[in-house]
Amino acid sequence: MKNSSTHLVVATLIVLCLITGCARKPPERPNVILITIDTLRADHVSCYGYERETTPFLDSLAARGSLFRNCHAPPCWTPPSMASIFTSVYPRTHGVRRGVAKEREIHGQEVLDESFLTLAESLKKAGYRTFGLSSNAHMSRETGMAQGFDHFVAQWFSQAKDIHDAALEIKAQLRSGEPYFLWIHYLDPHSPYLARKPWIDTYARHPEHLDGWTAKTMEAMRADFGLVKNTPSIRETLIDLYDSEISHTDLFISRLFDEVVDDRNALVIVSSDHGEAFAEHDFLGHAQSLYVEELKVPLIIALPDDQVAGKALTAAVSTVDIFPTVLDVLGIEIPAACRGRSVLGLMRGEEPEPRPLFAEFDRGRSLAAIILDDWKLISAPEESTTAYLFDLIVDPREQNNLAGTESAKQMLDRLQPALARWQRDNPSFDAPRGKINLTPDQERMLRSLGYLR
Ligand SMILES: [Zn+2]
Repeated sequence: MKNSSTHLVVATLIVLCLITGCARKPPERPNVILITIDTLRADHVSCYGYERETTPFLDSLAARGSLFRNCHAPPCWTPPSMASIFTSVYPRTHGVRRGVAKEREIHGQEVLDESFLTLAESLKKAGYRTFGLSSNAHMSRETGMAQGFDHFVAQWFSQAKDIHDAALEIKAQLRSGEPYFLWIHYLDPHSPYLARKPWIDTYARHPEHLDGWTAKTMEAMRADFGLVKNTPSIRETLIDLYDSEISHTDLFISRLFDEVVDDRNALVIVSSDHGEAFAEHDFLGHAQSLYVEELKVPLIIALPDDQVAGKALTAAVSTVDIFPTVLDVLGIEIPAACRGRSVLGLMRGEEPEPRPLFAEFDRGRSLAAIILDDWKLISAPEESTTAYLFDLIVDPREQNNLAGTESAKQMLDRLQPALARWQRDNPSFDAPRGKINLTPDQERMLRSLGYLR
């Protein structure tokens, strides 16, 4: 009797297994999919509270995972920011800080040195097959960003459709059942913004401005900043176009999951390299300041099997945290060189520990920032106003500089030495430049064209 009931249980289990598909062996380790969207500021993503439904796919991903409301990029433009995501060190440490794209070449950009351990290298060492798809030429083999990738495609400033085609080409390899790491970078929200249909039809508040809009219009706007700042309809048109690019990108990311990758057993991370300014302060675009509109980026993390779904977290984190978080989820030891921290504990409900975050920019202007306990200090040692201090709780848009006020003196006295100490303890690394270095004449020429500041 006992025997026959055991047989019955075993037979039932086998049938259940066949029905649920567990006869097919799942991958032992989850796949890792890291999606970076160039120039995506967090507050234009709908699950971050934006009034437009710009990102239905990212919203669905956030519902399956954790959404970090306060994620700061370490600088405000692509090469240093992506090098920081790849290495979990700040720009001064990896030394990738300058460079310019011109005539299908990257000029004067420091190369990410081979001595740095990258996320792709760590995962390759752990047995992952590694795939990198870059739509931004600043991230190429020549600039050292292909380190650790078995398969690496670097397109010259391409659109979502082109990088999607590159993803389709590796579909068979991604579906072979062996664990993989895929990094894919979308560029579309970067200027010049195109009017993406069908979204622009509903977003455009001033359709008359779209007639005759060309790729050069955005550059002209930057040259005449006052026009944008003082003409709401032009500023709104820039925003409407930018939003249409975000929605266009969101659609292609949903197509990536429909057509290329299988996310049933995957750790999925979505973030950005920096935001974008629309004259909130005296800037348009990015790579100009360390204000919130250029630094605050989305960070959405969906764990395999949708553990801890639907959480929104307010702890301040940085994109340098992505690398250690991936290793932590996979149970791989986090290298001591990482300056970021795993955010897995936060996702599981642990209380955040106070920690300073940093940002810096060194291309034309020299800026550094520290974010601690909901305060932010931006230091501009070479400028007439050398310090900007913001209370991020009462002034999240950083409009009211408290640096000269008596009430904030204590906080200034705390943050200034902490920032100086961090700079002293982390000396700048003199990274090798790319194979093409600028002569002083070329540099002057590029500066006059507005490519260097
Ligand atoms: Zn970028």
